Amino acid sequence: MDEISSKLLHLYDHTPVLVAVYDSFDRLRYANEAFRSAFFVDPDEMPLWPDLMRRNYYAGRGTVIRERDFEAWLTPTLSRRGKIGFRAFETDLVEGRWLWMTETVDREGWMLCIANDITKLRASGRSVRQDRDLAIKASNTDDLTGVANRRFVIARLEEMLRRSETRNELGCVSVIDLDNFKYVNDRFGHPAGDIILRDFAARIQREVRRSDCFGRVGGEEFLLVLPNTSMDAAELIVERMLAAIRGSIPLRGRPEFGYTFSAGIATAQVGDIVADVLARADSALYSAKIAGRNRIHLAA
Ligand code: GH3
Ligand code: MG
Ligand code: MG
Repeated sequence: MDEISSKLLHLYDHTPVLVAVYDSFDRLRYANEAFRSAFFVDPDEMPLWPDLMRRNYYAGRGTVIRERDFEAWLTPTLSRRGKIGFRAFETDLVEGRWLWMTETVDREGWMLCIANDITKLRASGRSVRQDRDLAIKASNTDDLTGVANRRFVIARLEEMLRRSETRNELGCVSVIDLDNFKYVNDRFGHPAGDIILRDFAARIQREVRRSDCFGRVGGEEFLLVLPNTSMDAAELIVERMLAAIRGSIPLRGRPEFGYTFSAGIATAQVGDIVADVLARADSALYSAKIAGRNRIHLAA
């Protein structure tokens, strides 16, 4: 086995195929020579994926990003990255090469990326295929906030519930609802409400692990799906989110205005359907609201 491992590593550094491995925090843990040269990574570097993309974007190299604002590209991309076991797509580099990129994610959230140069292949239908990929992205993305929409996040929840092994916990879900949002709209106007919703989504997205999924399921209601996660761990994560939002000053010119949210968390149980686990999380949310808002309650 050791012989095979070292042979593999040696071969990887002598192939034009791009190979990289990211851990569950989306930190680049291994990249072969072909990958490092395409994405400008030094041999001893281990950047986080968003940092690597951002740095190449501002240096005008690496992946072509057809969006005027990098962060506006990053939010919807992050909200879908690494959430399913396998994904494959065409992507192009600023230098002109086209790649067929595959992403394979394991149970622990580690990701293997393998990309092949397809510059000379299938060039004719490329813009049609890119349009199709953009349409798929749009169908999974919430327009206002750029995070996953109801369709996408509920599909992740269904996947989590389908996992049949009983040894581990399936995971948790958290229903998250902004506090007194009707009042916020009434006081500052609907456009200000929209700014707050965007601020909220962007801040929460930064606290979401790659293996989790966060999406907007209704007006000011969001859902967080945390596979393979205990109630204790889920609570810690949502506590961090509460703290991140308490520190936000979303409205320019109104430094005194802050906002909060409440959350209910429930553990998924074997045999649950989507409605079962959502009902338990919803009633925990309801009790958090009754208890005064700006807090988390756990389902019994
Ligand atoms: P609670 O703390 O109990 O959740 O009170 P709330 O006022 O947040 O709850 P309620 O469900 O009564 O009001 C939700 C409000 O969210 C009503 C609606 O005006 C506002 N809202 C829903 N979607 C949007 C949106 O897309 N943009 C804006 N600006 N407001 C929205
Ligand atoms: Mg509300
Ligand atoms: Mg609500």
